[in-house]
Amino acid sequence: MSHPTAAVIAVGNELLNGSIADTNTAEIARALQEVGIELLFSMAVRDEKSEIVNAVNLAIERASLTVVCGGIGPTKDDLTREAVAEALGVPLEFRPEAWEAIKARLKTRGVAEREDHKKQAMIPKGATPLKNPVGSALGAMVKKDDRILVMLPGVPKELKAMLGEVVATLPEEWKNPPKSVIRLRSFGLPESEIDRLLESLWNNPHLSLGLRVLSPRHTEIRIAGDSHATFQAKETASRLMGDHLYSTNGEELEEVLGRLLRQQGKSIATAESCTGGMISHTITNVPGSSDYMLEALVTYSNEAKEQLLGVSHKTLLDHGAVSRETAEERVKGLRRVSGADCCAAVTGIAGPGGGTPQKPVGLVFAGFYVDNKCWVREYRFSGSRLEIKQLTTMSVLNEIRLKLEKNP
Ligand code: ATP
Ligand code: MG
Repeated sequence: MSHPTAAVIAVGNELLNGSIADTNTAEIARALQEVGIELLFSMAVRDEKSEIVNAVNLAIERASLTVVCGGIGPTKDDLTREAVAEALGVPLEFRPEAWEAIKARLKTRGVAEREDHKKQAMIPKGATPLKNPVGSALGAMVKKDDRILVMLPGVPKELKAMLGEVVATLPEEWKNPPKSVIRLRSFGLPESEIDRLLESLWNNPHLSLGLRVLSPRHTEIRIAGDSHATFQAKETASRLMGDHLYSTNGEELEEVLGRLLRQQGKSIATAESCTGGMISHTITNVPGSSDYMLEALVTYSNEAKEQLLGVSHKTLLDHGAVSRETAEERVKGLRRVSGADCCAAVTGIAGPGGGTPQKPVGLVFAGFYVDNKCWVREYRFSGSRLEIKQLTTMSVLNEIRLKLEKNP
């Protein structure tokens, strides 16, 4: 058989009227990729029987595996099982063992069984029911000639819980060792610059590259290929991008920073104003971060800056809250009150209002105190309020990461 391919049909009006975004297709694509099966195409269709029938006909004609998700619940708008049976030309059949499983599930949840629940025990003739460990709607797998069709619930949590069994049940001869995939993470460079730097990799026919912007100037570079080619690509990219790569194994910046702090036995503290706590939030996204995170002060008013961080009234009056001088006093004050080995204090104008010609929106000063050295950086960011907060947060974490990486 030629290389097996797959198609996904996501069923639901809400996917087509802007109410929700389809996340199930990506979930299915990832699970299939693990066994080397790639999606040929995917579709989203309305909760209309004729639409589902047409989509199934198209998919089973072109793909070895068709996964239909959504619309297998007990309600009137759930039409997938009828549509699939019609497309495959088989009747729906009541399956007592499926009904027993559904009843048992309803009982444990204290839900009285209703006639419409019985509908969920109807599956296309010849199909194998697929257990749903976290919900009542059972899935089903049907074989037709050399094709397979799988029906799964639309609820993302349920779909996810069932994918493992689906993949395990697929014919072994369909499966291939997955391509080796590496994920490089970069902060600081615009996409166009990364594109230019990695030109030799884009041109390599043994590799497939993809760039994904996670937040401004924060990019994931996905490289897929055989393991030898991807290993070499990782070396090449590390050489070409240098310090701009903060991880080559998918690690988040805050994880890299946490690892460095832990290895060097150092603690960290932050004083934030324009980021409203985003820096400490990000640092503490890492489990176990309380081992090195000592404190975070979010100080917006001048009074708070004076009282909690000891910034002098005169500095605030002479230079303003958003200034190199205030950033320096803030970080020194933070070091005094926290005693942390690494301190960062930011102050800036996140916008969209509040900018002046001298101090435009996006102007940020960050004071650093690491290993008894103190310095201040001035940034001029642009973007929305959220983007400026993200840029500030990432820049601060990255600056400390770079400093700690230079340590012997
Ligand atoms: P139920 O028994 O809950 O009715 P079902 O299989 O009929 O299950 P749907 O009614 O299609 O599933 O969807 C249930 C919910 O799951 C939807 O309201 C929606 O929030 C979510 N959902 C459905 N399809 C998708 C999808 N493709 N991506 C993300 N979420 C989805
Ligand atoms: Mg439903």
